[in-house]
Amino acid sequence: METWQKILQASITKPGDLTRKYGIDPRPLEEVTEQYPMRVNPYYLSLIKDVDDPIWRQAVPSEKELHASVCPADPLEEENQSPVPNLVHRYPDRALFLVCSECAMYCRFCTRKRKVGGESMLVNRETIERGLDYLRAHAEIRDVIVSGGDPLLLADEKLDWILRELRAIPHIEIIRIGSRIPVVLPQRITMGLIRVLRKYQPIYLNTHFNHPDEITETSAKACARLADAGIPLGNQTVLMRGINDDPAVMKRLMQKLLAIRVRPYYIYQADMVQGTDHFRTSVEEGIEIIRALRGHTSGLGVPAYVIDAPGGGGKIPILPDYLQSLGEEVVLKNYLGDTFRYANVKQEVPAEPSRRAANAKGDIPGDC
Ligand SMILES: *Cc1c(COP(=O)(O)O)cnc(C)c1O
Ligand code: SF4
Repeated sequence: METWQKILQASITKPGDLTRKYGIDPRPLEEVTEQYPMRVNPYYLSLIKDVDDPIWRQAVPSEKELHASVCPADPLEEENQSPVPNLVHRYPDRALFLVCSECAMYCRFCTRKRKVGGESMLVNRETIERGLDYLRAHAEIRDVIVSGGDPLLLADEKLDWILRELRAIPHIEIIRIGSRIPVVLPQRITMGLIRVLRKYQPIYLNTHFNHPDEITETSAKACARLADAGIPLGNQTVLMRGINDDPAVMKRLMQKLLAIRVRPYYIYQADMVQGTDHFRTSVEEGIEIIRALRGHTSGLGVPAYVIDAPGGGGKIPILPDYLQSLGEEVVLKNYLGDTFRYANVKQEVPAEPSRRAANAKGDIPGDC
């Protein structure tokens, strides 16, 4: 057995197993784990400094998960946008392909909390084959996001098979992997795994750091291996109450990510997910965080702040009000709040769309 498999096997899955070390009363939490699974491996557990710190809150169940909330069961309407099980085709040219129902940790805030690690998410060879068939049949899809659960929890051979099949589809230009493994079980990024991934370039990997304390020597080494293999790394952070809802913490996180060659990609407003209400912040707080980043630190470390629209509308970017007015004169506010003016240029009258398209293809030579 490999080291990472041993670490995973030693995971705590019952609140009672935390009592000896942390002295907490596990009873109220047992009701929570009946509904939503718990899995915390010794590596992630070792990052906890105190009960209820930002690491603890991401990993250890809370009674608050049982509170009634306004949130629907499938807030992003992923089910309605699934032409085949475990594949979401929401955008014209890309698809989300769920290939594993398990995770190295069950994050308390997870968007797919009702599905991952339970019986309601069935992933097997047949569902993966059906997903591959769908992708083969849809030539408009040029970007596939392989996710889960956590796809890097699959055995190397299984992952090799899925990536090989995807790479054999001519219209798929890029493969993206969405994985929290570099954060929660970085030991999984073995040289064997790297050898698999290298074969199917171009591959991008988006990971999911939420707090600067998650950036350790071990996670930095995992990211270095991936980056050295030529895999561009991005990060998606969820903005969460009591975890990273502080501009200073978020700025430190973004800076530390850049230092381990991970480019901040998105900050998500927390989704409306049942059992996660206690993590939600106001949108105003998210805007303040972006305001505290832009101009105040490397632009490379300023991700897009987005709300994944309930009802399946997709990700919608939210910006502070830098653009104050737009007309003959553009009135702008900079990162320090000072006002600037830019003399606008009159818009060209666009040609009729159909003719423009034909022209672009060169169908009407000399038509101008
Ligand atoms: C986020 C997401 C994507 C990818 O969106 P990008 O903005 O291209 O990163 C694709 N499909 C679904 C269903 C998604 O939720
Ligand atoms: S690793 Fe990702 S999919 Fe799995 S529980 Fe955490 S947030 Fe959810």
